Amino acid sequence: MKISGNKAVTISYTLRNAGGDILDQATTEQPLAYLHGVGMMLPAFEAALEGKTVGDIVKPVLSPEQGYGVREEQAVMMLEKEIFAEAPPEIMEVGRTLHMQDQNGNPVPGTIVEITNEGVRMDFNHPLADVALHFEVMVLEVRDATPEELEHGHVHGVGGHQH
Ligand code: ZN
Repeated sequence: MKISGNKAVTISYTLRNAGGDILDQATTEQPLAYLHGVGMMLPAFEAALEGKTVGDIVKPVLSPEQGYGVREEQAVMMLEKEIFAEAPPEIMEVGRTLHMQDQNGNPVPGTIVEITNEGVRMDFNHPLADVALHFEVMVLEVRDATPEELEHGHVHGVGGHQH
């Protein structure tokens, strides 16, 4: 069976940067199961897997634009200290990633880059912004998604959601 829309796909993968450092991994013992074609994965990643079948190995390289974007200096901003008034003091340190909210209440992770008297400078760029993503993917299983999985928008069982 080939990978196409609404298939439940189980993969193992290794994600490296251009220098070969491993950034993320799903092993054959702890694979990742996802629903193909519903926007769970990066579009260029899904495109590379389209039409593949069990045992296939694909090595897509995604540009930052196809991955998590390019760094934007506007995404680094100074926030008033009052915003952090209720944060435990021990988490207020440079390098810490905090889960903030945007004006619509959506969660956005930001990393503290500087703490001054004026406020806290935070970087809301994705940690993998500007990084070319070098994947090595092996297809372990391809099957039709169940109606329940399609309704939930995710795969059940090994590597997927456990209800
Ligand atoms: Zn579910």
